[in-house]
Order: sequence, then C-alpha cells, then structure tokens
Amino acid sequence: MSKGFGVDTLLVVDDSQFRDAEGAVVPPIYQNSLFTFDSWEAIDSAFDDKVNRAIYTRGNNPSVALVEKKLALLAGAEKARLFSSGMAAISAAILHFVSAGDHVIAVKNAYGPTVGLLNDFLGPKLGIECSFVGGGEIEEFTGAIRPNTRLIFLESPSSVVFGLQDLAAVADLARSRGIATAIDNTWATPYFQKPLALGIDLEIHSCSKYLGGHSDLVAGALIGSVQLIDEIRMREYELLGAKMAPIEAWLLLRSLRTLPLRMERHQQSALRVAQFLRAHPSVRRVFYPGLEDFPQYDLARRQMSGFSGLMGFELATDELDSIKRFFNALELFRIGVSWGGHESLVYAPAIGYLREQSPDRLADMGIFLGNMRISVGLESADDLIADLDRALCLVL
Ligand SMILES: *Cc1c(COP(=O)(O)O)cnc(C)c1O
Repeated sequence: MSKGFGVDTLLVVDDSQFRDAEGAVVPPIYQNSLFTFDSWEAIDSAFDDKVNRAIYTRGNNPSVALVEKKLALLAGAEKARLFSSGMAAISAAILHFVSAGDHVIAVKNAYGPTVGLLNDFLGPKLGIECSFVGGGEIEEFTGAIRPNTRLIFLESPSSVVFGLQDLAAVADLARSRGIATAIDNTWATPYFQKPLALGIDLEIHSCSKYLGGHSDLVAGALIGSVQLIDEIRMREYELLGAKMAPIEAWLLLRSLRTLPLRMERHQQSALRVAQFLRAHPSVRRVFYPGLEDFPQYDLARRQMSGFSGLMGFELATDELDSIKRFFNALELFRIGVSWGGHESLVYAPAIGYLREQSPDRLADMGIFLGNMRISVGLESADDLIADLDRALCLVL
C-alpha cells in the first residue's frame, strides 16, 4: 500500500493483492480452516515463513491478515495481530511477558476482568504477584518496582473513573529498568492515541468497542514491533488458540472504513453531552477527559489527539430508588454492558460491583451508587441531551 496517504484513505482503499479476478470492491472472506499446496516443496517452503504464510487458520488467514495490516497502519506500528476477544489479547500479552514468580504493576482501575486475571487467576495459578497503583503519579510506579518486576500494565484513560497515566514518563522509567510496558488503549482507539510513539512496547485493544463500532463482533488486537508481535504469534497466539475468525475480521474491515468519521462524531456529541451534564443540578460530577476542568486535562491534551464517547457521571443523590428512576426512564440510552457501538448505552458500575464488593470497597475504588456510565452513540446529540434531561428531572 502506498505510503504518504492519509489515514482515512488507507482505511478505505483495499490492497490490490486482495482484489479478486472479478474486481469485487469488497474483499472476499477466506472462510477456510486450511490452505493446500501443489507439492512437497511448496508446503515445505511455506513452513519457512510460518509466521506470515496461510497454512492453517489457527496460525494465519488472509482475511485476518488484511485487517491486521490496516490496524498496524492506523497505529503507526510495524505489525498487529488480531485475537478472538480483547481478553484473549490481554491474557496473551501478560503471559508473554511473565513467568511463574514474576511481578507485575497494573493500574487499579483497569478493566474488571483484567484485574481478575491478574489477581484471581495468574496469582493463585502461577504465583504471579501484582501491585495495583492509582497511576496518576510517576512516583507510584517507581515505588512499586521490585527486582522481579517484568511488566507495567497501563490502561489510559482507565475504566470507571477515566484516570490517565503519563505514558511517556512510564515508558522512560520502565525502559531504564528493563521492564516491558503494555497499554489497554481501547478507550481512545489508535485514531486518538498512539502509545507506541510515546515509547510503550505493546498496544492492546478490545476491537469489540469503537474499532468494531457496530455492536456485531467481539475481537481483540495486539500492536507493536515485528519482533514482539511475531514472538507472540508463534507462542501465545498459536498455542493458546484464541484465533480471530475470518468472518469477524471481514466485519472489522468494514468497520475500519468509517472509524475516523465515527470517532469525530462520537467526540463532538460526547463533548456536548458532557457539558450539558456538568451544568445540570441533578449531576454531582462528570468524569470525561475532554472537559477543560477534568483534573488531568493538560496531560490528556498532550498525549491524545481527541476524545471518544464513553464517560461517567455521578447523580446528585445516594437514594437507590431515585437512581433507578433515572436509569429506567432513559429511552435512547439502552441498558447494557460494553460500549463503542453506534447505539447509546447506559450502565451503572454499582450493579456489577455490588454483587462482589461491599459499599466500602466501592468507595475505595472511587465508585458510588449514583455513578452512571454512558456511551454516547451516533444518534443526534440534541435527541440524546433531551433524553438525559427528561430522566434527570426525575432524580431530585
Ligand atoms: C471490553 C473491554 C475489554 C475486553 O474486551 P473483550 O473484547 O470484551 O474481551 C478490555 N479492556 C477494556 C477497556 C474494555 O472495555
């Protein structure tokens, strides 16, 4: 693919190598488990380049490879590898860097299942220790480093409270101590944040959110240097077996064509919604890195080129009845987990956490009963604001 094109062009134009004889404008789906060869010599030479050649779909598949190429271009990276889910990518990444008895530093407000993997699974199973830090200050990382620290796991902005970490500073610190760095970059997408350019070793995505964007696929991605991605390809990808499905890769290719358009629109509407919420008497606080009075706004502007559409806010009440009245009154914001699709969604983190944690533990994590999470979709911002306004009037 020609260099020098803008990212919008690269995501829309399809490689000629994938154009079939009929000139189909959309590349076909290679829905194959295996690929055949003409001779002993042909299959033998394919094994010479096992990392890249399509031999068996648990290793490589052309429909998947095409999307990996686009993702790498989008992220300004050498290489990308798609996985069957964001969690498959996260678990492969962590397992790549750590062995039994090693130590990891992670941000405490990382995605819930990431924390669960480190704490409840890798801890008891492999004796991998994890220190959780808030992540807002570089000293927290410096203080948590041990002789057996192998990996610093970031998520910026983080889940629930949207806390940021200074990516360049953490990358510098880690590099000087020989520690690897990985970031869950799902919130910002590679369109708005390029962590590899700031020195982070590995970029991780759940493609189930904005990269997919249509709430019709589940996938994950790892993005980094050729050397790192190829090592992961030969070990964690192939051996743990969480391969990307060709049909979902094809859907993701469709999604990437409109990623820049969608992200610009999510950003525009989300800022208007956040400003509306901040000014509303039924709202105590808004958590959105794109608001000028967000505590880490300067850092956000420095390391991101834009802001996506997921935000949190706290209702100005602690009465569960009143909180539920708001939640149930919304019409355009459908109730559900996940985010990043065309549709607007609302979720209350307390619903999940209250099942596992005490209210005291919630407060420690910075989560209150009245915390709402909304994903601002592609509907008209005026309609979304009217929907919120109507429901917020029922709160106080
Ligand atoms: C959803 C999500 C994941 C997990 O992705 P799946 O595709 O659902 O496995 C990881 N990190 C963040 C920040 C997420 O929101």
